[in-house]
Amino acid sequence: MTPSPGASADNGGHPSNQPVSSRELTRVAWLLDFSRRAFGLPLTEPLTPLVSQAVRSVCQSEVGAFWQTRQLATDASPVFAAAGQAAPAEWLAQLGTTLLAGAVRKGQQTAWELSGAELVDISPACHLTRAVAFPCCDSSGQVMALLLAGNTQTVCDAAAAHPNDTSNALSLLAQQVTAVLENRKERHLLAREAHNARTAEERQSLVLRGSGIGWWNIQLRDLHAQFSDTWWTLLGREPHAALFDPGSWEKLVHPEDLERVTAVLTRALRGTDSQCESHFRVHHSAGHYLHVLARASILRDARGNPTRFAGTLVDLTDCKKAEDQMRKLAFFDPLTNLPNRRMMLDRLLNSLKQSSRTHRHGALMVLDLDRFKQLNDTRGHDVGDVLLKQVGDRLTGSVRECDTVARLGGDEYVVILEHLDADAGKAANDAIAFGNKLLHILGAPYYLEGPDLPFSMGTSMGIALFNGKEAADTLLRQADVALYRAKDAGRHTVRLFDEAAQRQVDARLAMEDGLRRALNSNEFHLDYQPLVDLAGQVIGAEALLRWTPTEGLDRGLTVPPNEFIPLAETNGLILPIGRWVIAAACRQLAQWQAGPETASLVLSINVSARQFQDAAFVDDVRDALALSGAHPAGLKIELTEAVVMGNEPQTLDCMNRLKALGVKLSLDDFGTGYSSLARLQRLPLDEIKIDRSFVCSGPPGGTDALIVSAILAMSRSLDLSVVAEGVETQQQLDRLTIQGCTLFQGYLFGSPSIAGRVMAQH
Ligand code: C2E
Ligand code: MG
Ligand code: MG
Repeated sequence: MTPSPGASADNGGHPSNQPVSSRELTRVAWLLDFSRRAFGLPLTEPLTPLVSQAVRSVCQSEVGAFWQTRQLATDASPVFAAAGQAAPAEWLAQLGTTLLAGAVRKGQQTAWELSGAELVDISPACHLTRAVAFPCCDSSGQVMALLLAGNTQTVCDAAAAHPNDTSNALSLLAQQVTAVLENRKERHLLAREAHNARTAEERQSLVLRGSGIGWWNIQLRDLHAQFSDTWWTLLGREPHAALFDPGSWEKLVHPEDLERVTAVLTRALRGTDSQCESHFRVHHSAGHYLHVLARASILRDARGNPTRFAGTLVDLTDCKKAEDQMRKLAFFDPLTNLPNRRMMLDRLLNSLKQSSRTHRHGALMVLDLDRFKQLNDTRGHDVGDVLLKQVGDRLTGSVRECDTVARLGGDEYVVILEHLDADAGKAANDAIAFGNKLLHILGAPYYLEGPDLPFSMGTSMGIALFNGKEAADTLLRQADVALYRAKDAGRHTVRLFDEAAQRQVDARLAMEDGLRRALNSNEFHLDYQPLVDLAGQVIGAEALLRWTPTEGLDRGLTVPPNEFIPLAETNGLILPIGRWVIAAACRQLAQWQAGPETASLVLSINVSARQFQDAAFVDDVRDALALSGAHPAGLKIELTEAVVMGNEPQTLDCMNRLKALGVKLSLDDFGTGYSSLARLQRLPLDEIKIDRSFVCSGPPGGTDALIVSAILAMSRSLDLSVVAEGVETQQQLDRLTIQGCTLFQGYLFGSPSIAGRVMAQH
């Protein structure tokens, strides 16, 4: 039975005439009708009018009203509604507020009949005469709402329902209303939660979209999949719903990455992990591949089987670009775009490994442009840069794909050749031939400043062969040694490193190390070779430097000065070594001068050009003399032609200052240089020493003999003493004596030896 409001109105007018059973039946019908409607009422529609109407119908009263506490009001539901023609809403609203507040305060649980001040006018013409109120309480007993069924004076005089009956009816309705309220409360909460969840999801998806991160979510049971719009956009596709298809996904992954990605996924899904990630390339609809990072979460059921597979996809294009840029800066030369030193070393290591595997040789070629600095200085750096680029292009265009061309900086390039012959000889020949071909290509004219201005330039190249057993830095050193030899050989040429050249370099390096130690380790001493007169009398000696290393391969062996002095000159060590010689010689001289028998001996020391040019040289001599107490007249300084023929005013000044100290000056190895007589005349020399080469060789009357005679004649006219060096035989002595020579030095009179032996001969 479905009652209608119309029926209610009819019945409401004459309720007392109905038999009780019928009344109750109607009430149940209205209750059912209310339940059905109230439970089905959307939250967006107000409940209060429906309840107030139900009060009237169920209680068959003239006025029905319903109030809710504000806390329970859903957005759509006003807190109050009244039904009944004689009941203007605002009058009742006020009453309800008072009643509800009282009920809440008292914790009223049951119905009560209104009395006294509670029976108010509900309109100007209408006064409540009989009314019953009933609170709706939640499970904790809190008042949520209040129902009121009432009659006014007009109808009360007729037959109104008895208050007990009304209370019963209200009680039944209140139960229903409470259930509805609870239900609406539940639904409201659920709706709010759903709303919140939706908002969160939207927010998340918005964030992900803004950050360029796509997401996916796959139910593994049925492969039902969701992909975010960004996920599709990343791949250059229109967003659409799709079932997850492993086959088409595999087609999207770059073939080179597929195996690795599949392995990561399989391991993650089969294992127990809840997370996995992989970096790979996916196909973009535009045809290229994108670098992406996929991070996935795996949800599992109670037995550990994966049920859901979801995650994010990040486009790494920008990252990759930045990384590429960094890589480029770190490993490539920005001017030529060729690999730089670091990259070259990396490639060299690979080539060495490769060579060791294949047993085939490779070659490391170091190239240096001849006189590039000159071009840079005269035509400017821009032109220099153009040349460097063109050289790079020519080299790159001339080698095979497997070979490497790198620029080490400046005008230095490296080419690494791989896969040369297994036979070392053949590999060397091929490398040299290819090296020459490269030099030919690089030697062709460059047009750096326009087609009318050709520029030609040579290149020197050093090659070191390898077969995988060598260390990279050794190879680079070897190629450098070969490069220097190419330059020494006159540039624009190729040289292959060979062991003998390397041994020389090694020995030189070892000697240099040794020399640095030698002074502190007391490894130097002076030997003295006597200088004799016509009568064979020792009148002086020459101090000759000796080095006996205490460490290294030459330990204990005396190294001849001709081997280490040139090296000491190039690295500057000759200065401290020379100072040591002067000091040691002066000490010896002072000792001789202290002995009556040796007091007149003159001691010669040798001085190299580098020492002589040193501004402190004269002071060093003066200090050494002063410190030792030796008389300057006993000291003779031997200079070579190369020294005295240098910078004239400075040389002359230095010689004059030495002379001023009181020391003697001698010109050593005379005849081997280009001293002119006129020049000699201007120098404050005391003596010249005829070089051994004129003394020891040649027949009497030959060229050498004539030269000796000329030197003697010239010296006499310049008032210079002449010493003949390297006299080894009586025959030589006789000839020199006949020619007029009066002073001699040589093995015939004594080899260089310790000072004591010179004294013994004296
Ligand atoms: P030098 O000044 O012409 O010295 C003479 C060289 O001839 C010495 O060689 C000496 O041992 C050698 N000699 C002497 N008599 C004979 C002989 O009869 N036959 C032959 N074959 N050789 C003879 P040493 O000691 O090897 O010195 C070589 C050169 O090293 C010296 O030539 C000198 O230029 C340089 N030197 C030696 N000591 C010093 C030094 O303290 N300072 C500098 N700057 N150079 C030095
Ligand atoms: Mg000498
Ligand atoms: Mg000499």
